[in-house]
Amino acid sequence: METDTYTRDLIDTGVDPTPVPEASLAAFPRTVPRMLSLDAHGRVLDWINWQDAACLYARDAVSWTLGDPCLQIHGGTCRVTGERSVLDLHPIIAARGHARSRALDPTPTLTNTALFARDAQLCLYCGQQFSRPHLTRDHVMPVSKGGRDTWENVVTACFHCNSRKSNRTPQQAGMPLLAVPYRPSWIEHLILSNRHILADQMAFLRNQLPKKSKLLA
Ligand SMILES: [Zn+2]
Repeated sequence: METDTYTRDLIDTGVDPTPVPEASLAAFPRTVPRMLSLDAHGRVLDWINWQDAACLYARDAVSWTLGDPCLQIHGGTCRVTGERSVLDLHPIIAARGHARSRALDPTPTLTNTALFARDAQLCLYCGQQFSRPHLTRDHVMPVSKGGRDTWENVVTACFHCNSRKSNRTPQQAGMPLLAVPYRPSWIEHLILSNRHILADQMAFLRNQLPKKSKLLA
């Protein structure tokens, strides 16, 4: 969990832009936290980067927040006062207004990254864990036999198992699946798609998981 407060430079209009040292942006390229955005009713929308979060604050579009500030943004220096603007961003940000229903709990896009995360980088045939370059998307019911490219018909498989199974069903190949493929809920997807979730964000998201979620195991 990343709990430190990092400082980033934000160049605002209306103030002298402060040159952004290369090193300050490159220092923590993978650990700058993303913020969890909600609508005003507390319904989860998506991860947003600090730039988009800062825009919400600047537009006075933040309704309420949760958690202690996790990122401090320094703006430019005001020509008149000589003061530098500072913005504290919170890990969970509810924007004004409410989301349209179709924006809530959408089906996560089926990408290999999301699929491998769902299956914890395990080959669902041999049960071994592999690094990403050694993993493939296997269609349980092969596409050539009418199988669809949907969450419920795809599993993570290593190269070896995928080529061994070939153009057959698990039954035909004598290769039983170790788990049943499923469509992650949007909340599950948000947890699986971010490797740097802050403690406050994780607590909030876990509270919204269905009791049967495999992520609670
Ligand atoms: Zn395998």
